[in-house]
Amino acid sequence: MSSASPETFDVVIAGGSFAGLALALALARAEGSELSIAVVERSPLASTEAGPADPRAFALSAGSRGLLEAIGVWPALADAAQPVSGVDITDSALGDVMRPVLLSYDTVVEGRPQMLILEADGLRKALIEAVRGEAGISVLAPAEVVAVDDGVGARSVRLADGRSVGARLLVAADGARSRVREMAGIGIVGGSYRQRGIATIVGHERDHGGRAVQHFLPSGPFALLPLAGRRTCITWSEAEESAQRMMALGDADFLEELQMRAGWRLGELSLAGPRASWPLGSHLARSLIAPRLALIGDAARNVHPIAGQGVNLGFRDVAALAEAVVEGARLGLEAGDATSLERYERWRRADGVQSAAAFSALNTLFSNDWMLLRTVRDAGLGIVDRLPGLKSLLVAEAAGLTGDVPRLLTGEPL
Ligand SMILES: Cc1cc2nc3c(=O)[nH]c(=O)nc-3n(C[C@H](O)[C@H](O)[C@H](O)COP(=O)(O)OP(=O)(O)OC[C@H]3O[C@@H](n4cnc5c(N)ncnc54)[C@H](O)[C@@H]3O)c2cc1C
Repeated sequence: MSSASPETFDVVIAGGSFAGLALALALARAEGSELSIAVVERSPLASTEAGPADPRAFALSAGSRGLLEAIGVWPALADAAQPVSGVDITDSALGDVMRPVLLSYDTVVEGRPQMLILEADGLRKALIEAVRGEAGISVLAPAEVVAVDDGVGARSVRLADGRSVGARLLVAADGARSRVREMAGIGIVGGSYRQRGIATIVGHERDHGGRAVQHFLPSGPFALLPLAGRRTCITWSEAEESAQRMMALGDADFLEELQMRAGWRLGELSLAGPRASWPLGSHLARSLIAPRLALIGDAARNVHPIAGQGVNLGFRDVAALAEAVVEGARLGLEAGDATSLERYERWRRADGVQSAAAFSALNTLFSNDWMLLRTVRDAGLGIVDRLPGLKSLLVAEAAGLTGDVPRLLTGEPL
């Protein structure tokens, strides 16, 4: 590829993680698709990396499962997916021997679990393998996008190794600190929580029975996500300094901290994976689109892991953008046509605003030990618990299947 005559693709996706790879597959595998697609990712994008590097696990909604089915990745994931039978929420103090459940709800509707837990590594690996095997997708990796210029009929994307590619549509899927978003001059609203999210995987003596637990501690939420086998992913938010102290502990002391927070419902815990931590923030891009550019996933908005919605929201972006672009192409529009991009923006704007605001408010409400706030939130959850109609609405909302739903989320191919 010479820089004098850069190859031009219909769609160039900057960032080959969950959102970027899923979008590449959704576009390439749409019926009759003739779109040329490139994924540019700065890591090697190999599915054979040794051992679990990313200890996160994601609580995927029914809508996200629908998308994975529709883009043909689900068969590679089905065996490793842990269905969630229900969620228990508590905010008891760490010293309490009995930990009363404030709210619990079942997540199985008509025999079909509305929530599944997938390990981050397994999900990424399955997406990489599918993309690598897809003739219509060119993978440029490791390659980093370092500049984005406006061009005639296409954006020009410059890579760190000196290459350039043309993009009729450039998609920023490069995460919360998106450089593509910044280079396109799109600002954000929001900021840092001054908290870090710690994730690790533990083994345990007793079965988890498929139940997920959200324990609201004054320093931030502590979540137990059941994994296949007697294993659980712990995702835990702590104030910045305290998180750094936890990360520096030796294994035995770290395990002791986990056991104290998790309690004994799973029996004795053992470490079964690496630990990793991430800075937490919440922001929303001021716009999801610009000429020949769309933002998806964390590049579009970053939400607290409190509700486990980051990947789900990203997959909703994927489903909406893929449908807008593919249907536009069927009408003879170019991939970067403003009509398709405006349709995408209208579809996704409200969801992003609502989610960022709601998760941010929830985090403030629960990361606080003030007595009055505690009483109000306990009463609030108590009311939800006694109203089955409201609970099923919350479950449907969490499933991502309320409102005007893009087709891919229902499992239907484009
Ligand atoms: C502790 C923790 C727990 C979480 N738990 C959950 C959960 O339970 N459920 C859930 O749904 N979500 C959860 N999330 C959120 C979830 O991890 C994110 O929403 C998700 O990873 C976003 O995916 P993405 O593809 O948009 O971006 P990312 O996963 O951030 O990927 C961005 C990609 O872009 C690449 N990249 C960046 N810059 C460039 C560049 N210039 N050129 C080329 N490539 C580039 C990166 O290498 C990376 O591969 C959690 C997050 C944290 C931190």
